[in-house]
Amino acid sequence: MKIASVIELADRVRRGEISAVAVAEDTLARIDRDNGQLNAFLTVARTELLEQARAIDDKRARGQALGPLAGVPIALKDALCTRGIRTTCASKMLGEYVPPYDATVVSRLRAADALLPGKTNMDEFAMGSSNENSAFGPARNPHDRERTPGGSSGGSAVAVASGMTPASLGSDTGGSIRQPAAFTGAVGVKPTYGRVSRFGLVAFASSLDQIGPFASDVRGAARVLSVIAGADGRDATCLPAPCDDYEGACGKAVRGLRVGVPEEYFTGGLDPEVEASVRAAIARLESDGVAIKKVHLAHTRHAVATYYVIATAEASSNLARFDGVRYGLRVTGAEEHGKHAQGGALRAMYGATRDTGFGDEVKRRILLGTFVLSAGYYDAYYLKAQKVRTLIRRDFDRAFGEVDAIVCPTSPTPAFKLGEKTSDPLAMYLSDVYTLPASLAGLPAMSVPCAPTTAGLPVGLQVIAPVLKETTMFALAAAWEAARAS
Ligand code: GLN
Repeated sequence: MKIASVIELADRVRRGEISAVAVAEDTLARIDRDNGQLNAFLTVARTELLEQARAIDDKRARGQALGPLAGVPIALKDALCTRGIRTTCASKMLGEYVPPYDATVVSRLRAADALLPGKTNMDEFAMGSSNENSAFGPARNPHDRERTPGGSSGGSAVAVASGMTPASLGSDTGGSIRQPAAFTGAVGVKPTYGRVSRFGLVAFASSLDQIGPFASDVRGAARVLSVIAGADGRDATCLPAPCDDYEGACGKAVRGLRVGVPEEYFTGGLDPEVEASVRAAIARLESDGVAIKKVHLAHTRHAVATYYVIATAEASSNLARFDGVRYGLRVTGAEEHGKHAQGGALRAMYGATRDTGFGDEVKRRILLGTFVLSAGYYDAYYLKAQKVRTLIRRDFDRAFGEVDAIVCPTSPTPAFKLGEKTSDPLAMYLSDVYTLPASLAGLPAMSVPCAPTTAGLPVGLQVIAPVLKETTMFALAAAWEAARAS
């Protein structure tokens, strides 16, 4: 059975047509039926879910008004801290970690009367594009279980695409919401950098990380974003600017909007079926009165190299905290004491903990990130990457002098097969080529489904807008969604 949308479900629960307990039970039944095959959830918080549902129904019974996400089940990427519920980041390092606090986004969802059924699978520490770097096995694409759902927020995408929950939260550092949304046929939104508080998100690359929603439709994603967005005293990078009416933007006329199509996104490596699907969506927008213009984002070809220097540098610093002392895994490394003349036991413990706790991709990134920051290489790699990041941002500034938004493919290919790229990190990194530039520039960007391939695999249309112009992005995405359905 198809799951109701975020808006429909919240309306029905608020009107009392369906109880939150009934929604919670239905959600658990869906998870029990499908999760064994899809591996979307790492933790299902049954008891807590039913308690939340009862509290929402009691609140309604007392005549109190319910929040904008009343009774809407929202799955949470396992990088978001949840008080009293295991938060693993899909790593052995945090395999048993139970946070004593909620991330800001989690508290805001609770305050909006959402239901929180559990924590979703992901690439370890959000590093990856296929969910195959999870310490708990990959999530699988519901359209073809031999294929990846994308990553790193694969489980959150699968929860929505398979109808287990109408919405979920993910995090996007270089594409981790948009690419899995494209691969699974969900809507996925990366807001402007700083629009949503990162407090309680396990950090990967702090100058890029941003939390955002997945949903079964554009309006649902807009509703969830309006609940989680906005200033937060606990995250100094969270923007104080007031939030716009994202939901109201869905359904706004797009006639007369100027939309750019970047030439550099339609070059070699783009799957012909993806190109055809995206071009058909663009043609439809044009026939609906959108002014389509060619634009140039000349430094696009440097985005992969730039991102993988900056993101790994920041990761190597952020992940230094996992040392076996403060929290997370500790492995004593007792058998190695003798190898270290000074501080033997402590050094052995650090080494053994990090060797056991981190998977291969995380280790690769810590090594690379430490290298590009080290004396003698800093200028050649890290500093240079920062300069190129500025050039990439300026490309967008220039383009947004001429157009109100940009549309392009989310990913160069549809979902690839599990195992297809695991032995070739560079091939994996190249699959992020279309999502990284907006991340480096801090721009809001989202993926909305367009026509699937002949084999039935979903394809995503990416909409990129200027800083804090989420409303333009939502208006275009909703216009396309409506056009596609008509
Ligand atoms: N695939 C990219 C990476 O591996 C992006 C991940 C993300 O956005 N968290 O770093």
